[in-house]
Amino acid sequence: MAGSRLRQLEEEVRRCTRCPLHATRTHAVPGEGPGEAGVMVVGEAPGRMEDRLGRPFVGPAGKLLDSLLELAGLSRGEVYITNVVKCRPPGNRDPREEEIEACLPYLVEQISLIRPRLVIAVGRHAGRTLFRLAGLRWPGLARARGRVWRGRIGGVELLIAVTYHPAAALYNPGLRGELERDFSGFIRRSVAEALSRGGGGGGAGLDRWFSPDSRGPGEGAGGDVDS
Ligand code: SF4
Repeated sequence: MAGSRLRQLEEEVRRCTRCPLHATRTHAVPGEGPGEAGVMVVGEAPGRMEDRLGRPFVGPAGKLLDSLLELAGLSRGEVYITNVVKCRPPGNRDPREEEIEACLPYLVEQISLIRPRLVIAVGRHAGRTLFRLAGLRWPGLARARGRVWRGRIGGVELLIAVTYHPAAALYNPGLRGELERDFSGFIRRSVAEALSRGGGGGGAGLDRWFSPDSRGPGEGAGGDVDS
């Protein structure tokens, strides 16, 4: 039932005209992967290749993501991959706040239907958005990396891991080693721990991965300290 609603939702995204990005896209990119994936990867927005093909994370950044997922003990086929914004902003500019707001209900419903135990947010924009949805204060990418956070999105208790966007390593090769360390280190551990639990992101065994101060006074308001 949830799986058929997910495919229906993907069709709605492909036809969506909620924000101005629909006018400049070639294809909307709803996301792809199994409807009951234990792990989701969320990026910022489709790029040129994704817009052309209507699929997330294709091209060089997608290839790099595939190899990073392997380092975390995952294959692409077992992960649901999507973006915060489902249509490509012209010229690869950052999505505008009103575009993110218009598109977010799709991401929230995807999470609600798929019920992942872990969401890997790649890039600052994805991390900041996931934290806001989870009611967590955003500490900036540098402080969000390296640990796993617990939150609730779309009624689903889940873990959130944040790292760089794979595309960043294409422009700055020095980041590739850091991404590889993240995926083979704290992300791999959190994948193994989260998937071993089965059902929901809770469990006392996970607490060692959580930041004890992950909920701050800005809870629910985003608390963005990393502009
Ligand atoms: S970016 Fe999202 S809200 Fe805007 S047109 Fe595309 S699917 Fe609709």
